[in-house]
Amino acid sequence: MFKPLDINENEENKSVDATDVEQVKCLIIGSGPAGYTAAIYAARANLTPVMYEGLQPGGQLTTTTEVENFPGYPEGVTGPVLMEDMKKQAQRFGTDIRWGIATKVDFSGNTHKVWIDESKIIEAETVIIATGATAKYLGLADEKKYAGGGVSACATCDGFFYRGKDVAVVGGGDTAAEEAIYLSGLCNKVYMIVRRDELRASKVMAQRVQKTPNIEILWKHQTKGLLGENGVVEGAVLAKNKGESNEEEIQIKIDGFFLAIGHKPNSDIFKDFINTDEVGYITTLPDTSKTNVPGVFACGDVQDSHYRQAVTAAGSGCKAAIDAERYLSEKQG
Ligand code: NDP
Repeated sequence: MFKPLDINENEENKSVDATDVEQVKCLIIGSGPAGYTAAIYAARANLTPVMYEGLQPGGQLTTTTEVENFPGYPEGVTGPVLMEDMKKQAQRFGTDIRWGIATKVDFSGNTHKVWIDESKIIEAETVIIATGATAKYLGLADEKKYAGGGVSACATCDGFFYRGKDVAVVGGGDTAAEEAIYLSGLCNKVYMIVRRDELRASKVMAQRVQKTPNIEILWKHQTKGLLGENGVVEGAVLAKNKGESNEEEIQIKIDGFFLAIGHKPNSDIFKDFINTDEVGYITTLPDTSKTNVPGVFACGDVQDSHYRQAVTAAGSGCKAAIDAERYLSEKQG
């Protein structure tokens, strides 16, 4: 059984009154394929899961175009449709899906406390962390200077604004390849700024990029800065062969600058309690979703630095719900 929260037990809790405390059996934080799949399994196992969707309901897939490799969709499916279908399936079995952001946790006690929007505390017997990962930036001052004026980390969100224009995509992985191909259908010309002399992207995506006539790959180029007036991007300054004797600086004329250089796991609020690797990916016990805290499980991109696919995220969400269900059964004896 749950112990009611003593709202005076520490200073931090004083601002939350008793009506803002809720006890749940299973709390799911995050709503990508991992979170929704965990919700489907947890709901069908009578864990009456409560899910907080987070900043980006549906997660990263809501910003992708066609998903061609999720089994069950022979013709492909768009990311937003796939996520909406998973959400409906989770709701069909009774998942309580709510808008809200987990801002703080305390996993030191028997029940796990999670603060939602700094105004409500959920006391959960089990917590499933499915907070995913967020796009990385290069760390250039110009990315901030031109934010909203041509710098973006989501081609499918913002590509529309660059129809008929020249743009650049930074990165050589599958995300960069996908974004470049998407933009090539809208834009006049797409540069891919790749820091090595090969792509990290899968063979099929690399071939597609190389066959697309209006994509030009700038091999061994790195971005030094952006050019423009009034906060609007008009070009980029690049270093070719950086650090080598033949290093040279070049400029390209572009209106849009898209980052596609990977992601950072959204694990910051858990770090005082949950073990992570040096990058921040949550570490789970081998072949399980179990973290170092009993009753707290992790799934999806926040704990997967390797596969990071929708289908592997969904699989790990399934594991997390099964692990949570077994944890509760064992606890009840
Ligand atoms: P990746 O980590 O696979 O690739 C990141 C790319 O960005 C690499 O080319 C890397 O260069 C480059 N990069 C990283 N940091 C910098 C930097 N500071 N400056 C310049 N370039 C940089 O990330 P992705 O997001 O592309 O993919 C993540 C995972 O998701 C992968 O497993 C991928 O296969 C998967 N994915 C699958 C898709 C699909 O199947 N449809 C679509 C999108 C992603 P370098 O190679 O030199 O390290």
